[in-house]
Amino acid sequence: MRFDIISIFPEIFDGWLSQSLLARGQKKKILKLTAHNLRDWTDDKHKTVDDRPFGGGPGMLMKVEPIMKAVESLKSKVKSKKSEKARVILFSPRGKKFTQTEAKRLAKYDQLILICGRYEGVDERVADYLADETLSIGDYVLNGGEVAAMVIIETVVRMLPGFIAKTESAVKADHAQYTRPEEILIAGKKRAVPKVLLGGDHKKIALWREKHS
Ligand code: SAM
Repeated sequence: MRFDIISIFPEIFDGWLSQSLLARGQKKKILKLTAHNLRDWTDDKHKTVDDRPFGGGPGMLMKVEPIMKAVESLKSKVKSKKSEKARVILFSPRGKKFTQTEAKRLAKYDQLILICGRYEGVDERVADYLADETLSIGDYVLNGGEVAAMVIIETVVRMLPGFIAKTESAVKADHAQYTRPEEILIAGKKRAVPKVLLGGDHKKIALWREKHS
């Protein structure tokens, strides 16, 4: 699966992209992740990506033309039939809420093109005519879409076959877990691992886990 991130701060992704799981996934050719600089699709000397909103208002908006050129050029990188399975996603706090169900749906595409907004947002024509969908990662306003892109990629890649050694753990409901030591003093009080987990009765362990998931 190919992820193409469009951002005015692509360097934000450097450290994150090289961390173990994502780097290993790329090495194993399960995924390909590239953070592109939106300014590469500008024509003017200053590489302008923003402008004032029509009708007035505070701050600047991201312009539609560089985003349009970026989307067109990145879509063409996945050739033939596969381009039908590309999905263009814009991030906005006004978008559809991202959930695990959405991650499962998105994992079926061959390419995700992720548009990260900045400033006061993005010319609405990007949402209306260029993006296939608009997603929000929660009911709060971030400075930019870069963190939202990371959240979505971190969730979707876990669904890709081979990314996680045991695929079942990628989607299984999370439950309370413990590791050694069996007992520890925290603020002067003994805190122990629940006895049922130490007993080796798999049926009881499964029930306990279900209860604490
Ligand atoms: N007033 C703008 C709006 O409603 O879209 C807020 C712009 S915000 C400062 C800049 C960018 O951050 C947005 O264009 C979007 O790409 C991203 N962003 C902010 N909050 C987000 C959220 N909850 N989920 C996803 N992206 C978000």
